[in-house]
Amino acid sequence: MASFSSNTYSRVERVCRHMPVVLNTFLVFSITGEVSYLVLVEAPLEADRTRTEWISCWKLIHLLAQYFMLGNICWNASLFVKTSPTIKGVFLGGEGMAQGWRYCYTCESHTPPRCSHCYDCRACVLRRDHHCVFFGQCVGFLNYRYFLCCLLFMWAGLLYAVVMNVEVFMVILKEGVTPHSVLLLLVPWIMLVSGQVSPRAFAFAFIADTCVVGLLLVSAFLFFHVLLLLRGQTTREWYSSRRPYSQGPFGNLRHGLGARWFLCWLCPLIPSPLPGDGIHFQVTGSLEPAVAAR
Ligand SMILES: [Zn+2]
Ligand SMILES: [Zn+2]
Repeated sequence: MASFSSNTYSRVERVCRHMPVVLNTFLVFSITGEVSYLVLVEAPLEADRTRTEWISCWKLIHLLAQYFMLGNICWNASLFVKTSPTIKGVFLGGEGMAQGWRYCYTCESHTPPRCSHCYDCRACVLRRDHHCVFFGQCVGFLNYRYFLCCLLFMWAGLLYAVVMNVEVFMVILKEGVTPHSVLLLLVPWIMLVSGQVSPRAFAFAFIADTCVVGLLLVSAFLFFHVLLLLRGQTTREWYSSRRPYSQGPFGNLRHGLGARWFLCWLCPLIPSPLPGDGIHFQVTGSLEPAVAAR
């Protein structure tokens, strides 16, 4: 009985752990599909509406841009998940332990500065930023570039999708700011269940809403992480107001994204070796938290 309940629990836990990534993938592909439909068919909500004739060349450029962004999102996400930022398999001995080293009782190992234990990944992570719940993986020294580039292309893709969906909002609001149009915009699920809109109108309204909400969330997240990157801080260091490893904005970009920081965001295949080993960091400021500064 005990083993049955523990098996059920671990199965439920596994499903819950993969749920955010499944949901995210579903939303990314649904949004891309909807925007491709808008570009190719150009008939958002009203079947009898005159179609805007787009020339094939424009359609092709739009489709290429969409699939370039989708490809970058998927590729960076896949490399982010595959690249382990933990200390597993990393040789931590050698030059001895200087200031900032600690001992992790869970991993039973000495760990370098900026490294901390993640209870979800069940390991210590080199230059740990945070645990990303959407991918079930920590953001650390080795996979930071893929995380940031994935976020950048999600932002670009959502911005593009919102611009493309302006027409959907205009069609919904064509009847004016009535309770029906406002409810369709804000709570399309309720309108679908109550039978006041067609499934087609619901799908367009739902995806357009998701794009706006997603863009707001991803914009805030991207802004925060670009700020951290330029300041040479991890999220943990930002909370404690410390910047002891900052190398100046350009130096921080190089340390976060690698030697080809100005180019590597275009494609995950562009090699951009990271300076350093994620174990030793040049200290440029006080290691003590600057509480008074904030
Ligand atoms: Zn640990
Ligand atoms: Zn983690």
